[in-house]
Amino acid sequence: MSSTSPPIRRPRQDPVRARYAPLEAMTPPTLHELLSYPTYKTYFRRIPPMPSIHLLNNPWQVWALGVTGGWTSRVAKSYSEAYRELKKFYLDRVNYKDVCLVSRAVLHNEPMKVVSPKKGERIFTPIFLGLWDRHLFNWCRRCRRPTVFRYCSEYHHALKSAPVITSDEPFRCYYCGARKSFAGSY
Ligand SMILES: [Zn+2]
Repeated sequence: MSSTSPPIRRPRQDPVRARYAPLEAMTPPTLHELLSYPTYKTYFRRIPPMPSIHLLNNPWQVWALGVTGGWTSRVAKSYSEAYRELKKFYLDRVNYKDVCLVSRAVLHNEPMKVVSPKKGERIFTPIFLGLWDRHLFNWCRRCRRPTVFRYCSEYHHALKSAPVITSDEPFRCYYCGARKSFAGSY
């Protein structure tokens, strides 16, 4: 009778996913942190420009992250309405640890300012330079804030009604689920 114990079965690991594991561990600065910076607060409180005609009934969406990890959502017809919804989650720090306001109809580039107005040549820099680590986080043009585009988020909370059906571009925004190539900074 052999005394050899059976080999330990280890769960199969997706080697590509494992390579991007550090991205899974990173979480972007929360809205509470971002609004502690006056420049970001001014930007966030201003109603963003929107075209008078767009295709969505609810061009704004709020995503709130619960302290236990689940996500809750509300859609809104206007920025003011969305802002009011967002405020409820933002102030409820017992139950929610972060909240995001997503522009579903229009992409918003990170705002820039001129730093060197030479004749015939103007050099721009982001107005939020220095507020977060740009090696770790990217601007999302739907969320209008820094985010992390995580690898292969097939089970993303924002994609339940629009499941990921291709894997050719698997990096998705932590908050809104948008592809990095679509909504990321460039
Ligand atoms: Zn996003």
